Amino acid sequence: MEELLERLLEECRPFTGKGRVADYIPELAKGDPDALGIYVIGSEGKHAWAGDCRRPFTIQSVVKPILLLQALLDNGAEFVTRRVGVEATGKPFDAINAGDQALDSGNINPMVNMGAIVMCSLIYGRSYDERFQRLLELTRRLAGDGEIGVDEAVYRSEKSHGSKNRALAYLLKFHGLLEDDVEEVLDCYFRACSIQADCRALAHIGAVLSNRGRLPASNERVFPAAMSRYVNAVLMTCGMYDGSGEFALRVGVPAKSGVGGGIMAVVPTRMGIGIFGPALDRKGNSVAGIRLLERLSQELYLSIF
Ligand code: GLN
Repeated sequence: MEELLERLLEECRPFTGKGRVADYIPELAKGDPDALGIYVIGSEGKHAWAGDCRRPFTIQSVVKPILLLQALLDNGAEFVTRRVGVEATGKPFDAINAGDQALDSGNINPMVNMGAIVMCSLIYGRSYDERFQRLLELTRRLAGDGEIGVDEAVYRSEKSHGSKNRALAYLLKFHGLLEDDVEEVLDCYFRACSIQADCRALAHIGAVLSNRGRLPASNERVFPAAMSRYVNAVLMTCGMYDGSGEFALRVGVPAKSGVGGGIMAVVPTRMGIGIFGPALDRKGNSVAGIRLLERLSQELYLSIF
């Protein structure tokens, strides 16, 4: 496995030149466009890796499936579906998913910013601090890494350059989809995006989702199997935003990308995969990362279709 990963990584490295590092906040623009790494955790607990797989980066939108899990654990599927929807928007992650007059949960889903902002308000806790701490604890448990924390510089950068997300949150509030104080909810969202991870952490999260909610090594259950079906289905249709259809054709597994360059992929019953490649395409997905997943999918017949 390791040899295969090394070979595919070298083959795909030139694709890093086809993308650009996210620069919507100054702190992310400092990312290394040439970096590429992969980490795989199989269902039998075996680990394999290649490239820049232990470099830390911010999780960004890869936190969305974790937010969804926390919202499902706290409220159940029926309530969450009613509030956040499940239909693909076919639009960019930060799109204003509102028609001329109306915005309701049918216009959003848990993998776009508007849905993620709503989910922050669905997490239980007496304060937003407590809500975020619960989300962080779940992230640590899923990632198999108790040390995971927040990149404070990225968090401050997100918060001080967050006009678009503020606009989205105020629209949600205006249309009655958000009840709490907008700044408090957004603070939780910005902190969630700034959680630090590496490829190993993303592979571990993917492995739990592929293992129907059980940790790969101990088999300990973190969430019910029905929730992994829910999350994986939403990842399949919405996880790569308006690139989800093409990703389904090329790779064919549930996955979530983030503008920090991460991709977390779930191969049901077989493995979790973590990717790091900060050079992004126009939709905000890692160019070389997708190519690497496509090649791995071809070599190991990973597509679920
Ligand atoms: N923090 C980013 C944002 O809200 C996350 C988006 C992403 O990773 N696609 O703009």
